[in-house]
Amino acid sequence: MVLTRRSLLAGAALMAAPALHAAQRDGPVVVVGAGAAGLAAAEALRQAGHAFTLVEARGRIGGRAFTDTSLGADAAFDAGAQYIHWADRNPWSAIAEREKARIGEDSSWARTLVIDGRAATEAERTARRAGFGTLTALLVPAGADRSIRAAAQIGGAGAEGAAANLTRLSLGEEPERVSLADYDRLWSGEDLWVDGYGALVARHHAGLPVQLETRVTGIDWSGAGVTVETDRGPLAGAAVIVTVPVGVLAGGAIRVTPGWPAETASALDGLGMGAYTKIALRLDPARLDLRSTGDAVSVARRDGRDLTLYFEMAPFGRPVAIANLGGDGARALCEAGEAAAIAEATDRLAAILGAEARRAVTGGRLAGWWTDPLARGGYAIAKPGRAEARLALRRPIADRVFLAGEALGEGSAMTVGGATLDGQRAAAAVLRVLAS
Ligand SMILES: Cc1cc2nc3c(=O)[nH]c(=O)nc-3n(C[C@H](O)[C@H](O)[C@H](O)COP(=O)(O)OP(=O)(O)OC[C@H]3O[C@@H](n4cnc5c(N)ncnc54)[C@H](O)[C@@H]3O)c2cc1C
Repeated sequence: MVLTRRSLLAGAALMAAPALHAAQRDGPVVVVGAGAAGLAAAEALRQAGHAFTLVEARGRIGGRAFTDTSLGADAAFDAGAQYIHWADRNPWSAIAEREKARIGEDSSWARTLVIDGRAATEAERTARRAGFGTLTALLVPAGADRSIRAAAQIGGAGAEGAAANLTRLSLGEEPERVSLADYDRLWSGEDLWVDGYGALVARHHAGLPVQLETRVTGIDWSGAGVTVETDRGPLAGAAVIVTVPVGVLAGGAIRVTPGWPAETASALDGLGMGAYTKIALRLDPARLDLRSTGDAVSVARRDGRDLTLYFEMAPFGRPVAIANLGGDGARALCEAGEAAAIAEATDRLAAILGAEARRAVTGGRLAGWWTDPLARGGYAIAKPGRAEARLALRRPIADRVFLAGEALGEGSAMTVGGATLDGQRAAAAVLRVLAS
């Protein structure tokens, strides 16, 4: 997105937007999107006793926290979030305990490495380990921000290769598009591996009123309060909290009148969406002993670049293998469609486990967030030199449009916990403004 004359005009409108009358302040707050951020914002408004309308385009709540049971209840898998990151300060740790969610022993890093269909040699394994060692020492911000790739280049090909694996498999993006400064400030800590994080989010918020299958098509903040256009008619409110992914906003699916202020448009331009992707394969345990198989990494060249798949084998003992991938290779596979993605994952599984694995695959699912119009990617990545964009998006627009979600999380960005905390922050900001 670039700055347009339209967004500059919006800057002028910002100065002129009429103030709310006292009676209008009690009007409902419209919350757009029922993912972790929107649900947390709505819950905070409910607890404060302020009226709200929560609208969601999908037929379910949870957004990118979604436990997919379409391969069978016994083969449920998290198509999106799966780990409660930085558990010591993540609100979902206590919720998981209260709701008696099943927490797994975190699987150790994969021991099996397959390159171009054959087991990696000891020399290749040693070289990869060395590359990661070199990279770790280089990922220290100094001076002007740069990309993770630029930081890794100093360490040679091994470190560069490690950087690509790191950013594709943890962020879903190519290393040249990731800000090192932003990456460096992400919170770290213990990760809890949840059996059904999406189901936990949905269960926890099941009591909240939400208008499902209601797609927002426009937001008008030029008058007093806001008008939110939906495919089921307009909604008037004192303010709106917008939690749709920034990729959806940047794609222009929601018409904004009189446009985004220049500062907001610039901040949106500073963020991109990674393409973290999962392909789930349902397996027949009669044909494959899943317990004997640990996690595995499969590397192959596709269209001139490495396409690395990280296979989680039989998570929580379930009869599935989940391939995780990211970056441009994942984008290409999402665009190729579900059948092509399942075929690729099946080929790779067979290269790891032998031909019998191919016959054991009885179904599959592509969690293609990149091509999902309501997500437009896995999660928001700050571009090199644009680490400030996340916090810039937190500035309210004319005291009536408040953005929220994982993208605004700074250290907590790209997570369910971060989205939840940010939804609570946005609700508190709205309530402060409406009370003033
Ligand atoms: C593959 C994958 C793996 C991940 N792994 C983890 C992990 O292990 N741990 C972790 O903490 N996080 C993980 N994440 C990130 C986490 O899922 C997200 O950060 C978090 O769920 C985002 O919440 P949100 O509320 O900001 O956005 P969303 O969950 O995307 O919610 C936004 C909602 O807005 C709705 N919407 C979009 N457009 C419209 C419209 N026009 N009108 C109305 N509604 C609309 C969407 O349908 C959606 O429900 C992962 C994400 C992916 C994709």
